[in-house]
Amino acid sequence: MIVALSLLGYALMLGLAGPRLLRPDSWADRAPRLAIAAWQALSVTILVSVALAGLALTFPTVTVSGDLAQLLRSCVMAIQEQYASPGGVAAGAAGAVLALAILGRTVGCLAAGLARMAHERAHHHRILDMVGKADPGRGVVVLDSNESAVYCLPGRRRRTVVTTGALLALDDVQLDAVLAHEHAHLAERHDLILGLARALASAFPAVGVFRLAADETARLIELRADDAAAARSGRLTVAGALLAVAAGGTGNLAPSVAFAAGGSGTASRVRRLIPPQNPLGRTRTALGSFAVAALLALPVLVLGGPAAAAAGHNFCPGATASVSTSP
Ligand SMILES: [Zn+2]
Repeated sequence: MIVALSLLGYALMLGLAGPRLLRPDSWADRAPRLAIAAWQALSVTILVSVALAGLALTFPTVTVSGDLAQLLRSCVMAIQEQYASPGGVAAGAAGAVLALAILGRTVGCLAAGLARMAHERAHHHRILDMVGKADPGRGVVVLDSNESAVYCLPGRRRRTVVTTGALLALDDVQLDAVLAHEHAHLAERHDLILGLARALASAFPAVGVFRLAADETARLIELRADDAAAARSGRLTVAGALLAVAAGGTGNLAPSVAFAAGGSGTASRVRRLIPPQNPLGRTRTALGSFAVAALLALPVLVLGGPAAAAAGHNFCPGATASVSTSP
């Protein structure tokens, strides 16, 4: 019970403190790639902590000697001991339901989201096959439209689409910058990162931190792609290109599964690009990366703590009179 409560407390603490530590306009905007990883780690850790708490309720923890026969005996006796009382049965059943519900809901929503994305992409690819014109020199598909739009379709058949309106609005250097932005989306598989965040938000709509994680991930992904483009073309060039695309388009041409340049949040992205770059620095980035790794590892360590504390001992579900237990 103590392990389960510790894990639930950890999840609650992360849900309350995480959004404050990762708030917009903080260090996150100076290191968007690290911030994206931090939001992912935060969401996954909350989810795993609650699921592991369910498992800890179902299978109480114990340390035993390295002897396999004794280990198995202890496991069986511990389970018998827990499930001998109505309270133990109820706690075990509730834990199992919690763990299975979280796992099932997550996998189901993730699979449904990925399938929906694949379906919408396939539909848009068919449209592009009919009305788009390949431009092998630029490596893009050109759509005939007065509206200015540049977007990419991630996935196996990755494509970047540019309208004739955008080709008129952008000079060669700006077009190169916008294409570098789209290339960053494709190369870093931002579709999968955002897909996971949105799947958690739709699986558990009552959990505010998951909704916030999805919104912030979508925003930070754009900042990260802007930084990648700025590294190639310069920050002011990217800012000018974003403004040129946004000025000539409504943002409605790209499908919802695409990453469009000059979409929502363009004004704040341009404001961010105008001052000189102010990166987080190596030491802070290294510390942040360590914190992300620790975030993910802690629930596993909490569940495996009794084993780690007992040198030369194994860890397994169960309890006996001769071994220490966590009721
Ligand atoms: Zn983008």
